[in-house]
Amino acid sequence: MDTKLQNLLDFNIEQLEEAVKAMGQPKFRTKQLWEWLYKGADFSDMTNLPESFRMSLAEKYRAGRLKIKAKLCSKVDDTIKYLFDLGDGNLVESVLMKYKYGYSACVSTQVGCKMGCTFCASTKAGFVRNLSSGEILGQIVSMNADMNIRIGHVVLMGIGEPLDNYDNVLDFLRKAQNEKGLGISYRNISLSTCGLAEKVIQLSEEKLPITLSISLHSPFDSQRSEMMPVNRKYPLDKLLDACNIYTLSTGRRITYEYALIEGVNDTKEHAARLISLLKGKLCHVNLIPVNKVEGTGYEKASKKNIAAFQEMLEKGGVNATVRRTLGQDIEAACGQLRRAANENKI
Ligand code: SF4
Repeated sequence: MDTKLQNLLDFNIEQLEEAVKAMGQPKFRTKQLWEWLYKGADFSDMTNLPESFRMSLAEKYRAGRLKIKAKLCSKVDDTIKYLFDLGDGNLVESVLMKYKYGYSACVSTQVGCKMGCTFCASTKAGFVRNLSSGEILGQIVSMNADMNIRIGHVVLMGIGEPLDNYDNVLDFLRKAQNEKGLGISYRNISLSTCGLAEKVIQLSEEKLPITLSISLHSPFDSQRSEMMPVNRKYPLDKLLDACNIYTLSTGRRITYEYALIEGVNDTKEHAARLISLLKGKLCHVNLIPVNKVEGTGYEKASKKNIAAFQEMLEKGGVNATVRRTLGQDIEAACGQLRRAANENKI
């Protein structure tokens, strides 16, 4: 894949129309080309386009489907983890999960991450670059094509902080929900942030009915700042104020992600403090039995502690569920596969 060529999945429909017109083709070719691109087709597959047009397209552009560098299929559930090659030496991960309601994809928004969360494998080698909107779309298009499925739900929770790549992520959201794009309803899209409060407020002004997830992981500023350096800039009061603004503006319930780590953030004091912060708010706590990450010293909390923590929150008036852990045998926590590939382990 030649990354010097422009990725056509980066184009919106008007830009594609311009490109098609500049190549001397009639307007109706735009619709045909657009449909092929969102099916993950290569130019050679686009059999209803004239061969000369396909050859001209291949000289100037690339179609946007990503090359699969590795694919790990869970033996215990239907989860599949993909490692995609972006064509410039960089790799990103995506995870495909099967639920009763259909397929859901967890996609990456950056190569690496600046945020430095201590429990996360994605940030260990630092930040490399933002993904373009076409590269984010490309992950979904490529999984759809590889499995011959239609992904109906998307979670922006792979490698990277989505709100640190704001413009490209917004462009992605608009194209993903567009019925001429992937046709995924905003309500089926969830964006997860480590807590960039100013960007949460900016996002609230877009009034998109997506689900906002906040990676909380500790209700104490001192501990959260240690686990998540972003908390030093945006401590809990600022972050929760931004979340209130988001809820008021969109009417959407916020999800607080809380990865339970044995002996670190699963005590009664943590539950009590979490209740005092969240009680009465339009929100929901998603408790995540964290995957062990080599080199962090963090261990998964026991089933007993997870159940006790959930019960305390529920009794305190805060709605809480425990996330089903999928893909345990393929290390589905973000960043782990890319890290292994960069260390030449796969
Ligand atoms: S958890 Fe998310 S925001 Fe934090 S370092 Fe990892 S990818 Fe970045």
